[in-house]
Amino acid sequence: MFCRACCRSSNCCRTSSIKDSSWESISVYRANKDKTMKAMVLKKLKTPLEWTHFADREPGPGEIRVKVAACGVCRTDLHVVDGELPNPHIPIIPGHQIVGRIDAIGAGVEDLHMGERVGIPWLGHTCGVCPYCVMHRENLCDQPLFTGFTRDGGYATATIADARFSFPLGEAGSDVALAPLLCAGLIGWRSLVIAGDGQKVGFYGFGAAAHILAQVAKWQRRAVFAFTRPGDYATQTFARSLGAVWAGGTDEMPPEPLDAAIIFAPVGSLVPPALKAVRKGGRVVCAGIHMSDIPRFPYQILWEERELLSVANLTRQDGIDFLRLAPKIGIVTKTTSYPLKQANQALADLRAGRFEGAAVLVP
Ligand SMILES: [Zn+2]
Ligand SMILES: [Zn+2]
Repeated sequence: MFCRACCRSSNCCRTSSIKDSSWESISVYRANKDKTMKAMVLKKLKTPLEWTHFADREPGPGEIRVKVAACGVCRTDLHVVDGELPNPHIPIIPGHQIVGRIDAIGAGVEDLHMGERVGIPWLGHTCGVCPYCVMHRENLCDQPLFTGFTRDGGYATATIADARFSFPLGEAGSDVALAPLLCAGLIGWRSLVIAGDGQKVGFYGFGAAAHILAQVAKWQRRAVFAFTRPGDYATQTFARSLGAVWAGGTDEMPPEPLDAAIIFAPVGSLVPPALKAVRKGGRVVCAGIHMSDIPRFPYQILWEERELLSVANLTRQDGIDFLRLAPKIGIVTKTTSYPLKQANQALADLRAGRFEGAAVLVP
């Protein structure tokens, strides 16, 4: 994969705009003609992913096969590998921020076509009939499938997806730049909506999701307050470069009370300081799928109608809303690309916080 923005040598530029053209995926799509599929597979919890060959899989009714061009690495993937989510499916191919092109279409799929570029998110299937699906809260479906957790995902050269849960992406933007939008952007967007429309918003943990959401919030003319690991001045500088009006450690209080705070870091001990940071009637949203235990805290910091709530998964409408808005905002994603075979390194670097923005695997 080569950088288009500057010198066209590999890995020379790690910042990409979704306004770039999609020359990358077109070349990948044309080049990838062999009939085998390779993937990084989690065969046992808490062990490294293993490079594995498969015969190419065929899409069933209502499904598509997608040649993967890029797949974002999400903190949820770490929770999958670490066995921190309930009822794991093993073996599994992780990865739920997939950008690729359709190269096979199953029976009954009407709205998508061969060669079309699509994005495949975390929510991979819902039942359509449970009380949550019926009340338009399919993110809470009783019988869901999640990409890269309970159905195979995108740490692979190809994947099979439910066509109804695939988003056409159009041709604007590079594959790598778009990948982080599929979860960091999308579930971040849901979190921001649920946080309400207050002007002053705090982000606890400034990684893949927050670096996208900071741009959204700025576009909405809100003030972003970024909280990083104490002493992580590089990330604080990164946050300010994306428009944060204040950046400091999670051990600091913001200079003024916040209307809302979103906790992206999977760290339960951040809940009490976030509650202290929001004003009366303020809202604290826990955006992660997994969080360490929340320590005991005095009722006084919840009192005065402060709210504490969580965000689970996404709905297809979230995806439609966010992906329609993203090009208007001109979101720039900061990405660090890794060859697919280096997925274990990407996960280790994410765990250690060794890069800014988002990691993306490229087959
Ligand atoms: Zn994710
Ligand atoms: Zn359902």
